[in-house]
Amino acid sequence: MTSFRPVKQNRISEEVLSQLKEAILAGTYRPGGKLPSERELCDRFQVSRVVIREAIRALELTGFVRLRQGPSGGAYVQELTLDHLSNAFLDLFMANKLSAPELVQVRLHIEPEVCRLAARIVDPAAAARLENAFREEHAETITHEEWVARNLEIHYLLARGCGNRFYEAVLKPLLDLTREMVLVVKPSHKVIHEHADHRRIIDAVIGGDGVAAAGAMRDHITKVGGALTDLEKAYREKRGLVES
Ligand SMILES: [Zn+2]
Repeated sequence: MTSFRPVKQNRISEEVLSQLKEAILAGTYRPGGKLPSERELCDRFQVSRVVIREAIRALELTGFVRLRQGPSGGAYVQELTLDHLSNAFLDLFMANKLSAPELVQVRLHIEPEVCRLAARIVDPAAAARLENAFREEHAETITHEEWVARNLEIHYLLARGCGNRFYEAVLKPLLDLTREMVLVVKPSHKVIHEHADHRRIIDAVIGGDGVAAAGAMRDHITKVGGALTDLEKAYREKRGLVES
């Protein structure tokens, strides 16, 4: 059992948080497992319940644990994902500290490179995933959510398949933010998406032609970029946010 150190200073919950994080990162508590109960943590850290709750809440916000209710409830450790990065980007966007034109500029810079890299390492399994995602774009869709998810899937697949997780970490929040705007504003589908563009991109990636893949993606983002920038105003209105 990990021997947590008693804490006496202020910023107590931050100290508790950092010790809990250390224990998770050291593998004392593994994904799928549960942290000790609030009561037990109170005893072991010699602090109040409020302090423990604050620390657990911070662990939840940063994606280390998920809280479950009920008899077997508690703070369950989960595999860290890129999702909390997306939440941070979205908060900044909503607070008007990031904008759609900036988002488009970064996508225009990163996504062609992601395509170039993906084309270098594409294998039959990755090619099949791309083809499958492309077919799904055509499929009868029931909800707007599905339509949005299917039309962004190729972008996510390329981000995951470029062989550099930092690129994926930077790109995924940008794609999530794009998805959020389209989900909320519900623009006419044609405004946002040209099916032929995706065909060109995946043909080049699957064919291993990095230069063509990068070029096709650059053209695609250039085309949809203007529409995304227009969406920002509508998005801020719909969500009642301050305009820039
Ligand atoms: Zn696209």
